[in-house]
Amino acid sequence: MKNKINSAVLQVKGLHISFERYGKGLRKVNLDVIHSLSLEVFSGEILAVVGSSGSGKSLLAHAILGILPRNAQVAGTICYQGQKLTPELQKKYRGTEMMLIPQSVDYLDPLMRVGKQVVGTRGTKQKQEQAFLRYGLNEETAKKYPFQLSGGMARRVLISTAVVGKPKLIVADEPTPGLNPEIAEETFKHFREFANAGAGVLLITHDIGLALQAADRIAVLYAGTVVETAPAKDFQAGKHALRHPYSKAFLDALPQNAFAPIAGTQPYAGDLPPGCPFAPRCRLRTPDCARHIPMRKIRGGEVRCIHAT
Ligand code: SF4
Repeated sequence: MKNKINSAVLQVKGLHISFERYGKGLRKVNLDVIHSLSLEVFSGEILAVVGSSGSGKSLLAHAILGILPRNAQVAGTICYQGQKLTPELQKKYRGTEMMLIPQSVDYLDPLMRVGKQVVGTRGTKQKQEQAFLRYGLNEETAKKYPFQLSGGMARRVLISTAVVGKPKLIVADEPTPGLNPEIAEETFKHFREFANAGAGVLLITHDIGLALQAADRIAVLYAGTVVETAPAKDFQAGKHALRHPYSKAFLDALPQNAFAPIAGTQPYAGDLPPGCPFAPRCRLRTPDCARHIPMRKIRGGEVRCIHAT
């Protein structure tokens, strides 16, 4: 059951992430991979962040947890429970109140038995055993090293690390690849339990079908920024209930809908058009779309499009 939503656990305001690269003639150029990105996750809710590969979803997760590569340049603010996160605070909360369920199973320590990793500094052996039972991992699994696990088992171990604690914010970065459908569904049930217990869950996924089952609200990322945030029920209602041309196209491209991909590709970070990043593919564009397009509230959601109604 979806939940009553309370205060903001996470607020991301005007986030910019760029990387310096060498361009032609060995000139340094800044690649804006994330730009003007704002979103909130409230206590008691699951916010799904969807978008195609390369839209910046994983970088967002890493920025929140403070684990971006050293050469990343970050601007904007990220607040956790109203407190502006600094690198020190990110380190303090990471793995305790703020949990990452990462996309890559390489986050497991290759030299430590996985049972011990799940117990960590916050759990107990009993809680680890309960978590393993819940995710279909047998007792022997706890004694294994990561290289002895299949991809699906390693992913279930990673999810168990979140289950043993009492996190207030869970950032799950593509948590379901490698899981069979029953365990994937079970995983989302546990996210719902976390939300029902008062945590905020930021669920990053490309699987909008699963996002629709699990989330209260959905944020759509395109070319490094949020173009629409809307209640999940609007996505369930169909594209007429959505606000942004890309969200509508994204929904239309799903196999369960019209399976109609739109022409063109998402622009590369170093090659963004002026104004709206979707403009080169948008049938509704006008000359005004080349100016800065702010987010605005419409029909209980938010949209970055000047012609949305
Ligand atoms: S701002 Fe213009 S180009 Fe961008 S989505 Fe809206 S209509 Fe299309």
